[in-house]
Amino acid sequence: MARRPVVAANWKMHKSLGETRDFLRAFLPMVAGARDREILVAPPFTALALAAELVRGSNVAIAAQNMHPEEKGAFTGEVSPIMLSDLGVRWVIVGHSERRHVFGEGDDFVAAKVRSALDHGLRPILCIGETLEERDAGATLSVLERQLAAALAGIPGPDLAGLVVAYEPVWAIGTGRTATTAQVQEAHRSVREWFAGAFDSSIAGEIRILYGGSVKPGNVDALMALDDVDGVLVGGASLEADSFSRIVNFR
Ligand code: PGA
Repeated sequence: MARRPVVAANWKMHKSLGETRDFLRAFLPMVAGARDREILVAPPFTALALAAELVRGSNVAIAAQNMHPEEKGAFTGEVSPIMLSDLGVRWVIVGHSERRHVFGEGDDFVAAKVRSALDHGLRPILCIGETLEERDAGATLSVLERQLAAALAGIPGPDLAGLVVAYEPVWAIGTGRTATTAQVQEAHRSVREWFAGAFDSSIAGEIRILYGGSVKPGNVDALMALDDVDGVLVGGASLEADSFSRIVNFR
């Protein structure tokens, strides 16, 4: 079965309300014809409500960049799945490498977020990826397997219909250094095989696996041509409407 591509922008800690408005006003018409793919934009928390309002009725959906797994409570500075749903947000990035490595989020916390997102009707984009040291030590595939096993432990197969995985080698994020197409295909294939072993071949065939790490208009076509790449998660090159629309409109 053909997997519908997903092209997602991760704005990280960028854009005011005015910049969000300017971006979406320019961007929505540029991608209005792209109906065969899912287009997501993940603004910072402060711009989620505005962005959700501006994309209403369009072919673009809004994602959050993070969330706390609990519904409410004494978690100063955190945002819950209920608060996201309330804004019209339908997707959430979970386990991004900056959350794991800059903010020290471990596999168990990532797992709680995946479970909570699914329980609250939010679609998680589960990020996994190895550091340069892990790649150099030949541990890439075992790291990916460990992250997947930890994040998805105890989740029944049918619940995974809402899940997207993003393979983002840490050394390729924001560095201008894209993984080679052979490295990307090898990692994506092994992720798909992991799903076949841990769940079954039909789930493995349906799960969408995005690549992230220095994706640009100039390399998206080669990445999207790979058998097991079903989309891209884009940081730096998603900040300008022109550049991100060229990525969305990949061949
Ligand atoms: P980048 O970021 O495209 O700037 O490398 C990707 C990401 O962190 O999701």
